[in-house]
Amino acid sequence: MNKTDIRNYSLEQLENIVKSFGEPKFKAKQIYQWIWQKGVMNFDEMTNLSKKLREELNTAFEFQTLIKVHQQQSIDGTIKTGWRLKDDSIIESVLIPVPKDNRYTLCVSSQVGCSLACKFCATGQLKKVRNLTDYEIFEQFLRVNEMSKEIYGHQLTNIVYMGMGEPLLNYNNVVKSIDKITNPLAFGYSTKRITLSTSGITKGIKRLADDNIKVNIALSLHAADDVKRSKIMPINDTNKLWDVIHALRYMYDKNKPRIGFEYIMFKDFNDSIEDADKLIKLTKFFPVKVNIIEYNYVEGVDLKKASDDKVNKFAKYLVDHGVMATVRRSRGKDIDAACGQLANKIEKG
Ligand code: SAH
Ligand code: SF4
Repeated sequence: MNKTDIRNYSLEQLENIVKSFGEPKFKAKQIYQWIWQKGVMNFDEMTNLSKKLREELNTAFEFQTLIKVHQQQSIDGTIKTGWRLKDDSIIESVLIPVPKDNRYTLCVSSQVGCSLACKFCATGQLKKVRNLTDYEIFEQFLRVNEMSKEIYGHQLTNIVYMGMGEPLLNYNNVVKSIDKITNPLAFGYSTKRITLSTSGITKGIKRLADDNIKVNIALSLHAADDVKRSKIMPINDTNKLWDVIHALRYMYDKNKPRIGFEYIMFKDFNDSIEDADKLIKLTKFFPVKVNIIEYNYVEGVDLKKASDDKVNKFAKYLVDHGVMATVRRSRGKDIDAACGQLANKIEKG
């Protein structure tokens, strides 16, 4: 018999399930807490349930846990883990430790592959796409949190939705996963420590605001005008820069999230002072920090990373014009764990 993952069910649905087994309603809350608060993935460990109920649950449901298929550690301590899902899809999670700052960040995947095909991104080259369920996202958090405790003696301090996939094109499950991670009745983690990175899905950004989801937001900007941006990010054809900026402003007015612009610097493409001037104009609508990031090499891509000199001049120019800007070095490059490199090698075998 094909069993369903018990984590598909809401608390209300669990109440109906336990009732159908002739058990009192409050048992559902206990099951919910075992799953989402304590992170248990096995009915036998749910020790406050009767043996009979545990057996009934076991017969009808299961936990389709992530199967670890590989794990690599970079010289800088970054750890990339590949997981096989129930349907044999592979996703990756990355743990980025910065012990000196007491920072242990998880970079979590939200989809298998990505349909948006940004020119510079390995994930975008993968054809296969499906949305991850909320529990497939939550379990990456749970498992990497354990890993961080085991290896670095510290739990995760930050979660970034910057792995494979576009989180706002998997809106419902991503929001559910955030709820499971942050709800006091579930894991109870702080939303202030979660950052969602998006290529700029206008509707999704507005929806986050309307739904009162108080995460921080990173916009993958990468070019400060529509013509250039459309050349490297096809999503810009339908989600124009100004509309994205307005959506972010809308979100800022509602929930005051921390907003960041990610800006990969490409040689002779977006690394001039004229580009910096255009970028500065986009920083006037809400407080925003610009992260200049290094392009990580992806096979078959016709773009090159900007020189250090250009990067430093660009960053200094921004700072001199009152923009908060930092240059971020990649982590885990030697194991292809850096931003935009995920799942490249796996797909190509
Ligand atoms: N789809 C979302 C989140 C996942 S991508 C988004 O695009 O924001 C996470 C980050 O990696 C994004 O900022 C993306 O632009 C960046 N990225 C993709 N390919 C990259 C590459 N080759 N080098 C550096 N950063 C890259
Ligand atoms: Fe998708 Fe983000 Fe990669 Fe673009 S950068 S293809 S949106 S994962």
